[in-house]
Amino acid sequence: MFYKSTRNSSVNVTSAQAITQGISKDGGLFVPSELPAVTMKDIKELGDMTYAQRAFFVFSKFLTDFKPDEIRYCVDSAYNDKNFDTDSIAELAHLFDGTYMLELWHGPTCAFKDMALQILPYLLTTSAKKLDLGKKIVILVATSGDTGKAALEGFKDVPGTEIMVFYPEDGVSAMQKKQMTTQEGANVGVCAIKGNFDDAQNGVKAIFTDTAIADTLAANGMQFSSANSINWGRLAPQIIYYISTYAQLVKDQAVDIGEPINIVVPTGNFGNILAAYYAKKMGVPVNKLICASNSNNVLTDFINTGVYDRNRQFFTTISPSMDILISSNLERLLYHLCGENDETIREWFGKLAKEGRYEVSDEVKKVLSEEFYAGCCDDVQTKECIKVIYDKYSYTCDTHTAVAVKVYQDYKAATGDDTVTVIASTASPYKFSGSVLSALGVDTDADEFALVDKLADASKLPVPASLAALKDKDIRFSKTVDKADMKAYVFESLGIKE
Ligand SMILES: *Cc1c(COP(=O)(O)O)cnc(C)c1O
Repeated sequence: MFYKSTRNSSVNVTSAQAITQGISKDGGLFVPSELPAVTMKDIKELGDMTYAQRAFFVFSKFLTDFKPDEIRYCVDSAYNDKNFDTDSIAELAHLFDGTYMLELWHGPTCAFKDMALQILPYLLTTSAKKLDLGKKIVILVATSGDTGKAALEGFKDVPGTEIMVFYPEDGVSAMQKKQMTTQEGANVGVCAIKGNFDDAQNGVKAIFTDTAIADTLAANGMQFSSANSINWGRLAPQIIYYISTYAQLVKDQAVDIGEPINIVVPTGNFGNILAAYYAKKMGVPVNKLICASNSNNVLTDFINTGVYDRNRQFFTTISPSMDILISSNLERLLYHLCGENDETIREWFGKLAKEGRYEVSDEVKKVLSEEFYAGCCDDVQTKECIKVIYDKYSYTCDTHTAVAVKVYQDYKAATGDDTVTVIASTASPYKFSGSVLSALGVDTDADEFALVDKLADASKLPVPASLAALKDKDIRFSKTVDKADMKAYVFESLGIKE
């Protein structure tokens, strides 16, 4: 199995190379040259396995340059009961008739990003060892809130790595900010930027692809890599839980083997839903992939019209991890949909960079509308949905998950489709206690930790130990920089002179 760049099909690298580099030198994203198949016989067998064993099965197909022992070491180190508070790792909760919540937030930072970022440090350090790089790996992260913390937790004190996280000053929840600014570890750095997530992501991408900066790092025995979902090592672990979920549904006799399901994903950077698309292409029977957005509904418009236009107002919402106008992973999907034509991708993404807009071909529009349904909702509707789900099913969902539930309800009302449906639940409601409580009509005039207690009363859900512990932690990182000064922050943190 080799990996190509979406912007240069002649690039051919191993998974270890793709994972350590993070992004291709031409600015493209690494994609597998072909997709391995999962058969219904495999699905049956996976049903009787643990999550780590299921992960081993899937990784063996993608990381063909890894030895079986290396993959086993990675999956066992990540997917265990020390890191996750449920044996199933990805918990499937029954919400109502034929509708399941795939709770992906039982890891150490209470967001679905843990599913990939608990294993990425192992994949990355194993890859670096295999390639005999002999360089320190510097991880740069742009975060809309959850990736930053999950990456910091995954990489803290991992030998041979440094990690630096940039987050939008006013674009994360109080709990998310507290999680990041109190981060422990000797190899970590956290910095706010004056700007939004797209500014942070563009800044990080610009640093990554600047060859002069890369040369300076190399001269100092270092090399960049990425923990954002532009890294293939982030995406591959996300495919696993969709395959695992289908195997579980079959084992639990919730679906007959071969019976299709719908998958609903609250979407920002298009990583999570792209993983579901890959699972489908590998053989998981999927009817519709339902892409749910908040008021930053650039993807809703794109899937419905074929025109991607980021020239629009940016909204700061109560689902901040989806406040994104440039969805990086769409590039991977479009590469596959346009016949793996790197020239087409260069053209469209060149236009996006220059004019903030591109329009795909009619063939691509057709496939998009066959595979996907897209919808969006605003903060008022998100809150209404949290309240309805709470009142009807005694289930408390976070603000991101609620966007998905609402869009699914709209889909169901519009189509009458009663296919068994899995909704990706991407964060613990405790990460967004204020917004969730206000949706439930509870007074929120209190500090973040008093809100957590109130939410515990209302939801009857156990408070995650990692969030409760933040209360007594000191702030270690309080710096805010202009987006133009991100590079200077990186050099300063690494102790490098320009
Ligand atoms: C990151 C995140 C999302 C968006 O996921 P993408 O892979 O970027 O589309 C949705 N919900 C939560 C809670 C997140 O942290």
